[in-house]
Amino acid sequence: MNCPECQTVTNVSDHENKYFLGKNVDGLPWFKCSACGAIFLLQDGLPKVGKRGEHGKRFVPVTTGLFFMALSGCVFLIWGSNPLTMIIGGLLALYGGNALRVGIWGSQQLLDEMTLDTERSTKATEEYQKINKL
Ligand SMILES: [Zn+2]
Repeated sequence: MNCPECQTVTNVSDHENKYFLGKNVDGLPWFKCSACGAIFLLQDGLPKVGKRGEHGKRFVPVTTGLFFMALSGCVFLIWGSNPLTMIIGGLLALYGGNALRVGIWGSQQLLDEMTLDTERSTKATEEYQKINKL
């Protein structure tokens, strides 16, 4: 089966594989392309590009990022600077920074995949790693 967006072969033969997202109201199975992240449904054995009508909201990672940054600041303000607060505050700041970068520079596709309950595609994973320099 070829992805209708990028023509990469995606396994849709087994309904229980990880690219299977569920069924729509008509009982047609949804799949997600493992390469480009396109979502499509299978109708009469043919793939049709579909939109689930949901979009990742940019303010979600931005708000999350700011919240964790503020939390990190509070840790230092309340308990001062010592090895333990360095670890906890550092991790909070790191997590907050990652979320903030995704919110600011992430593409709509990356946002969709991070905020929705779908398996992340290779394209979005690469973008996430590039943004956060992992
Ligand atoms: Zn594709």
